[in-house]
Amino acid sequence: MSTTTPQETIHVTLGERSYTVWIGRDLLDDHARWRAMLRGRHALVISNRTIAPLYLERLTRGLDGLHWSSFLLEDGEAHKSFANVGLALEALATLGATRDACIIALGGGVVGDLAGFTAACWMRGIDFIQMPTTLLSMVDSSVGGKTGVNLPAGKNLVGAFHQPRAVVADIGTLDSLPAREYRAGMAEVIKGAAIGDAIFFNWLEQHAQALAARDETALVQAIATKVRYKAGVVARDETEQGERALLNLGHTFGHALETAGHYTTLLHGEGVAVGMLLAARLSERLGMSHSTDTLRLEQLLKAIGLPTDVPTGYDPEQLLALMRLDKKNTAGTLRLILWHGIGLAEIISGVDEADVLAVLREAM
Ligand code: NAD
Ligand code: MG
Repeated sequence: MSTTTPQETIHVTLGERSYTVWIGRDLLDDHARWRAMLRGRHALVISNRTIAPLYLERLTRGLDGLHWSSFLLEDGEAHKSFANVGLALEALATLGATRDACIIALGGGVVGDLAGFTAACWMRGIDFIQMPTTLLSMVDSSVGGKTGVNLPAGKNLVGAFHQPRAVVADIGTLDSLPAREYRAGMAEVIKGAAIGDAIFFNWLEQHAQALAARDETALVQAIATKVRYKAGVVARDETEQGERALLNLGHTFGHALETAGHYTTLLHGEGVAVGMLLAARLSERLGMSHSTDTLRLEQLLKAIGLPTDVPTGYDPEQLLALMRLDKKNTAGTLRLILWHGIGLAEIISGVDEADVLAVLREAM
């Protein structure tokens, strides 16, 4: 029931760029709260054609008295494009937006990444507010200031670090989120615990059923704990000079799986789920971790309903070739995020390709 849904407030501490993340139900309608974050008289709302019919009006009721307009993307990763940044910038120009204008991103990671990058570009940087509507964007992409778009040559090749002014995570919007997208977001929650918080991992094991059933109290706590964890990492290493790279646990394997499936077989979170398990198996093979940790990860992923197997028909050699293209690598060797067990991830350079291949072959 909405009256009993808890709320959480998390501060991302980054000096002048610090901001607050609010998590709770019906926050879209809490106009007074987020409207106070708008400095000027202009606002551009960026959303997409799936989300706007559901939630845009509730948001724009809070923009009374301002000069505002909306820019709607078609749905899908393909629309996180440079061309759409251009159109969003044109929309700001048409609005007559000044330097104190604000962009509001209402949507998942696609909308948030593009809106944030547009905000970074207009007049060399204006405010933007994240209003994430997917679990993945609430626990991951809306926090931390990575913004950007895709090029035909690859995903997220163009971007900027640009922190939002606030994050408003209205968990009521998740009511309409497809179950598969919800589970994919949960993979990024589990990832945070697997990297650096064994107590949280325990808690997730105990609350897996409640989370799979979307129990709101458990959900708010899970989102808040993951956001608090990520906020800490970002505060210590905003531009990924070191520790922040740990957040890529499972991602080198995961991206290879996503790419091999032409981005149609696995959602990103599903690729990360399988990828984390492969990273755990590789860690075990290298003598870094124990099989009980691998097993606990596998069981937690399964309890949430996430995939744990490499889809059939994939070629280990091709996956390895794709892993060689990862941005983290230096010439000749693989650089992977592995772990010493639950809550203890580490960046490992010079991983032998033969070990990676062996783990991939065993997973087929
Ligand atoms: P998404 O934005 O494509 O949303 C997934 C799907 O759910 C879309 O079809 C969307 O229209 C729909 N949807 C969104 N909210 C809904 C709602 N409340 N009800 C019904 N349907 C809804 O995908 P995503 O998983 O949110 O984000 C993926 C993107 O995020 C990728 O582009 C990825 O690169 C990026 N990302 C960025 C960061 C970062 O740090 N900036 C981190 C992780 C991922
Ligand atoms: Mg991810």
